[in-house]
Amino acid sequence: MKAQWNTNRRKEALKIPEKYQEKSPQMQNRRELTFLLQEAAFAEKMALYHVIDLECLGELKKEPFLKDLPKARSVIFLGIPIFEPLLLMEQTVYGSRGEKKTTMAESQVENDLRSFSDKLETMGYDTAISLPSILPNPEFAELLTLTKAGFKGKNQRFIIEHFGCRICASYLVSNAPLMGGDYRYPDYDVDQCSDCQICIDACPAGALTQSGYDQKCCFDYRDDANNQKRVAAHSIVKCNRCMAFCPIGIKTIWE
Ligand code: SF4
Ligand code: SF4
Repeated sequence: MKAQWNTNRRKEALKIPEKYQEKSPQMQNRRELTFLLQEAAFAEKMALYHVIDLECLGELKKEPFLKDLPKARSVIFLGIPIFEPLLLMEQTVYGSRGEKKTTMAESQVENDLRSFSDKLETMGYDTAISLPSILPNPEFAELLTLTKAGFKGKNQRFIIEHFGCRICASYLVSNAPLMGGDYRYPDYDVDQCSDCQICIDACPAGALTQSGYDQKCCFDYRDDANNQKRVAAHSIVKCNRCMAFCPIGIKTIWE
């Protein structure tokens, strides 16, 4: 189920597919659980919220999720908008597991995933979380296209309507029997890049090309202190031009 909190939701537009309409206590539980989680996502104003029922995926597409949790039945994708570049500022945080470098956007998504995971685990289900990253990632962007909520752009990021690629997203898998699919919103899965190549031209490392992405080249550029901006003692901003310059996503265009 895909949710866009910024779009008006109409109850009458909800059409539950036949496979989830069975009048049995198990299916009733499945519907209720799905809507309960969806309402939590709406309350949090998630830019991206989508559930996939793994029964609906072929063996090959299921594989990456089953690696995380062999008995997984559903996947919840969620993502928050990056309304301003400060959310991408990398900070060194110290916790019980030692020192960790993270951005505010990644921390927020990790917390959201843990909150959904806690909800499900309290109800007796098992979960596994995949941690978010704000970097271009062709394989991850490809996984996100399973939601049909967006497409993989030439900047190797997942691009959704309204927010463009300026989102931070990840997912959790669980053995909870959730309903998947999209019942109220049109898909947004047609590649909108066309002949644009702003991100490719804007990449100072030459890591993006028409045909792909050189991760080492990108990482080397970002990790070079000469290409970073220090904001405070333990906070730096690294390159994010391929995210910043993309013209898609009117709600998150930065000044
Ligand atoms: S170097 Fe910067 S612009 Fe180029 S791919 Fe990496 S993050 Fe994007
Ligand atoms: S900047 Fe242009 S080519 Fe790059 S991802 Fe955005 S729309 Fe596609």
